[in-house]
Amino acid sequence: MHTKTIKRLCADLNAGEYSSVELAQYYLDRIQRYQSINAFVTVDPEFTLSQAREADKAIRKDKHKPLTGIPIAHKDIFCTKGMLTTCSSKILSNFVPPYDATAIKKCKDSGMVCLGKTNMDEFAMGSSNETSYYGPVKNPWNETMVPGGSSGGSAAAVVARLAPAGTGTDTGGSIRQPAALCGITGLKPTYGRVSRYGMIAFASSLDQAGTLTQTAEDAALLLNVLAGFDPRDSTSVEESVPDYTENLGKDLAGLRIGLPKQYFDEGLDPAVEQAIQESLKVFERLGAALIEIDLPNSELCVPCYYVIAPSEASSNLSRFDGVRYGYRAEDYEDLDDMFMRTRSEGFGPEVKRRIMIGTYALSAGYYDAYYLKAQKLRRLITQDFEQAFERCDVIMGPTTPTPAFELGAKTEDLIAMYLNDIYTISANLSGLPGISIPSGFVNRLPVGLQIIGSYFAEALILNVAHRFQMETDWHQKVPEGFAV
Ligand code: GLN
Repeated sequence: MHTKTIKRLCADLNAGEYSSVELAQYYLDRIQRYQSINAFVTVDPEFTLSQAREADKAIRKDKHKPLTGIPIAHKDIFCTKGMLTTCSSKILSNFVPPYDATAIKKCKDSGMVCLGKTNMDEFAMGSSNETSYYGPVKNPWNETMVPGGSSGGSAAAVVARLAPAGTGTDTGGSIRQPAALCGITGLKPTYGRVSRYGMIAFASSLDQAGTLTQTAEDAALLLNVLAGFDPRDSTSVEESVPDYTENLGKDLAGLRIGLPKQYFDEGLDPAVEQAIQESLKVFERLGAALIEIDLPNSELCVPCYYVIAPSEASSNLSRFDGVRYGYRAEDYEDLDDMFMRTRSEGFGPEVKRRIMIGTYALSAGYYDAYYLKAQKLRRLITQDFEQAFERCDVIMGPTTPTPAFELGAKTEDLIAMYLNDIYTISANLSGLPGISIPSGFVNRLPVGLQIIGSYFAEALILNVAHRFQMETDWHQKVPEGFAV
């Protein structure tokens, strides 16, 4: 059962092979059995089963929607009404939101069943899931390795088949990078495609919600539920939502694939490059043409991001002061002292570091030198993509420079940690959609191929990914310890 895709589970549910309650119970048992990977922060079986009972009722009355009864795990960054929402931070460790994020509400309204909330890097800051207040998530392929971050809990849950699907958020790569390191399909839609309402903000101009699934087809099904304009999010876009499954299967003859020369440079592990090259041959066989392209400002993406993201974070995180949400220090002398102690005790070191960097970059004397400069670079990086898309339909390359690394290997070397996102950050800076799909193994660890599309070209990149998955079986591999 656990190897089944959403698509298959839907067919089974509707044919009455099993009920949504049975399905939910099955996954709850797996979550219980495989707790060692630490993928979940909160599980509430009663709540899950009550949603499943509702789904079964709807199916019986023939009042169901396409994904009614399908279980899903939500990243703990999405506010869930009545259910703990911690962002994996001590400062929100007791926070129970009075409302649902739009993404959560859409899943609920479509009859999906919430399996629980998944572990993540604290406030989504990280690439290895090691900054979580609840301890690191382990990579199911090898539990001494990181699963990637920050949506590492959702990614690990999906590849270990503890959930058929998960939600995630991607500010600089946090859906695509863990998808690559865990060997699943991770989609970050165009900025504005999925509402950010109720998603705890890290860097508002970069954050975007998306999906973690086994296949591109499942990602399309889930995006059908999540996408759409939301008047509660002023950056959500009023663009009609196509049926993302409609395009699936179209042939790729004549597709122009741009390969940025900067993505195949010395920073790339040669074994990862080898796996990517093999995957590109699959597309050539399908009739696509490979074109070398130039993204001249690529090397500026990481520095640009590490000014903009912390700046926005320092402002967004000012709301956590012990007054309105979550944790408050126990001992303090006066109001100022309460703020200081609450924040000193409530935030972990990486979050504090980002707040310090951001506050510095936004301060009067340095704003022009850092923040404004970074915004100008962001424009140039976006222009590089606009020019590239005049010559190609999609852009491909590795999602990450290396496969998963050992837990603890990069916690002392921040630059090495930050460089994990060297190929993913550009899509956030420019707002473009990107997907990572499994495309081989190196040292028994999965490798991800990234496909970036033009604005709102989700249907196209999903089909490109789907066609690849019709030709290959990397996405069907399950880590040994989780096969039964
Ligand atoms: N790894 C990047 C960071 O730490 C991106 C995180 C994300 O996409 N949320 O900021």
